Amino acid sequence: MGKLLIVGTVAFDEIETPFGKTDKILGGAATFIGLSASQFNVETGIVSVVGGDFPQSDIEMLQNKGIDTTGIEIVEDGKTFFWKGKYRNDLNSRDTLVTDLNVLADFKPLVPKHFTDTDFLMLGNLHPTVQMDVIKQIPVRPKLVVLDTMNFWMDHALNELKEVIAKIDVITINDEEARQLSGEYSLVKAAEIIQKMGPKYVVIKKGEHGALLFHDGKVFFAPALPLEEVFDPTGAGDTFAGGFIGYLTSTNDISFENMKRAVIFGSNMASFCVEKFGTERMKELTRQEIQLRLRQFKELTQFEIELA
Ligand code: AMP
Repeated sequence: MGKLLIVGTVAFDEIETPFGKTDKILGGAATFIGLSASQFNVETGIVSVVGGDFPQSDIEMLQNKGIDTTGIEIVEDGKTFFWKGKYRNDLNSRDTLVTDLNVLADFKPLVPKHFTDTDFLMLGNLHPTVQMDVIKQIPVRPKLVVLDTMNFWMDHALNELKEVIAKIDVITINDEEARQLSGEYSLVKAAEIIQKMGPKYVVIKKGEHGALLFHDGKVFFAPALPLEEVFDPTGAGDTFAGGFIGYLTSTNDISFENMKRAVIFGSNMASFCVEKFGTERMKELTRQEIQLRLRQFKELTQFEIELA
């Protein structure tokens, strides 16, 4: 079984969408990535930090999904990272209302010994120096290193972010962030510029408009499944990343052809995440549901055409 190490936030989120709002609920990039990747046959571990206010029941929920939580540090007298966001009516754009780093501000990640030989490394959205610190703790370079980030770190730690981007294989970011990072409006040109910064593969997530995979002059597109109900897009990007790397880890194949399939698996997982608030849908998701929806994906994208 392939090993996958995930670093990222384990958090409290407060979310407002046109359909309602939540109190503080479980969130965080590593939480969504872990829940998504745990649907594949992989040995998954999370490196993160939470405060003494974080419920033990949520740690146990992750463990029950087969996720190794020994890398989640608990700072008893600290508070868990908190993020509050509000979606506009189109659900494609959101405003961050609060980002309280709390225990994340002084976080020194520690990769558990039994994960220092990980095959795959997922650097979830987090301070780029923490992402770099984790890379340095792994003596033999993993087969594939995937990084996810967001505009917050481009605004607050751009130089550190560029340093870590130079060391990774795949970057997953959304369209606005790709434009911000590259300074280019065209996503094709943006992907070219970002590839020159380090990663040979660039995945640009476009929310309900799917995802693009760029590599060496080639491009592949996976649509998002048109859903009847989109309730809360929070975590969709992370869930996509978890499906993407979970599939690659379980197949142990990092060819471009397999990465195309991984993008489909990622989109498939993300389509569930948005159906309920926070992690609710991902917690109850079954493998049968995943298989069934993959069929829908196939039907959505397959067509016969005679070419001259
Ligand atoms: P996504 O919707 O995929 O972009 O991810 C949403 C998750 O990212 C939420 O559960 C938040 O807890 C987490 N998050 C929000 N802002 C940050 C940040 N600056 N750094 C790390 N994680 C964040």
